[in-house]
Amino acid sequence: MTFDSVRVDLGARAYDVRIGPGLIARAGQEIAPLLKRRRVAVLTDETVSGLHLESLRAGLGDIEMTSLALPAGESTKGWPQFSRAVDWLLAEKVERRDIVIAFGGGVIGDLAGFAAAVLRRGVRFVQIPTTLLSQVDSSVGGKTGINSVHGKNLIGAFHQPALVLADIDVLDTLPARDFLAGYGEVVKYGLLGDAAFFDWLEQNAPAMAAGDAGARQYAVRRSVEMKARIVERDETEEGDRALLNLGHTFCHALESATGYSDRLLHGEGVAIGCALAFELSQRLGLCSQEAPSRVRAHLKAMGMKCDLADIPGDLPGAEGLLALMAQDKKVIDGKLRFILARGIGESFVATDIDTGIVRRLLEDALA
Ligand code: NAD
Ligand code: MG
Repeated sequence: MTFDSVRVDLGARAYDVRIGPGLIARAGQEIAPLLKRRRVAVLTDETVSGLHLESLRAGLGDIEMTSLALPAGESTKGWPQFSRAVDWLLAEKVERRDIVIAFGGGVIGDLAGFAAAVLRRGVRFVQIPTTLLSQVDSSVGGKTGINSVHGKNLIGAFHQPALVLADIDVLDTLPARDFLAGYGEVVKYGLLGDAAFFDWLEQNAPAMAAGDAGARQYAVRRSVEMKARIVERDETEEGDRALLNLGHTFCHALESATGYSDRLLHGEGVAIGCALAFELSQRLGLCSQEAPSRVRAHLKAMGMKCDLADIPGDLPGAEGLLALMAQDKKVIDGKLRFILARGIGESFVATDIDTGIVRRLLEDALA
């Protein structure tokens, strides 16, 4: 099997996303053209480091590699580990023309990308995403950053990578729950803009989850293509990029309600949020009843959470969830902004949604 390449065409900031097996083994070949000197600094987490760092070192060949492994998990994505990472890069004498490598999931990608954005006013970086979520979503598009005590992803910068290497082989070590959470973002792409891809997922996603490499490569490629085309149209989220937030207004409220704990992973919240967004679209008379039913049936068939009742522990009531939605940074001038759909693959940005209908939807979903 060979790899695919998707170009993210952003003029002076354009880059390639390579997707396929064996990319870590050939990382040296891929990265060498970007280097002014044969040395890279790798930021990773302890889990990924234990499983895959020696493969990366081997793949880099005679390129000298220095690395720092941060603790695994979302709590790493804050000021303490960020300043540790930046100071380490300076101690390693990373210069303006050097390359930083982000080797891990979205936590490492976001933190390392932001470190690269501010280090010496900006150095280039390469994403080597190791989770399904980071391969299909966070490694592409240039949003980097960390969390604040005031909320998630509130501190950051747009900083596009110089190259992305999505090696589907590393997904073999990903726990099933993390794989399915990443799948929440994959299914989102079909739902937001490609009905044929959703059809394909209905047929092929079970094999993909079971380990089928060809299916994984196709699903990652199609997801990356869709994200790339949207980011090309709207790099800094003035308009269309918001479509990528399908399911996310609900998701952010649920993540906040569950304290960003392992009661609910981000991609799980996205899946539930997509089901709710389609239900809301149907109640608003925008799409047929068949659409939300198909969404829920597919999530169920994949063994994913798709109802509020699938989240362990207590949730706040409808009013509490609405209040959490109103705190989301996607709220503009106090009006709830949702991504809604006229059918599978036909989403659009809707502003000024009546909170009464959302409250009733949540009451029913919590009942
Ligand atoms: P993560 O980076 O925490 O990875 C999940 C877990 O999997 C971690 O414990 C990690 O150590 C482990 N892991 C990673 N690769 C592995 C592998 N190959 N084998 C075994 N274990 C592995 O989380 P994530 O789900 O990848 O990313 C979530 C983060 O991404 C959130 O912080 C979110 O805000 C961010 N995000 C950013 C964007 C963006 O556009 N920048 C988009 C979506 C999400
Ligand atoms: Mg997301």
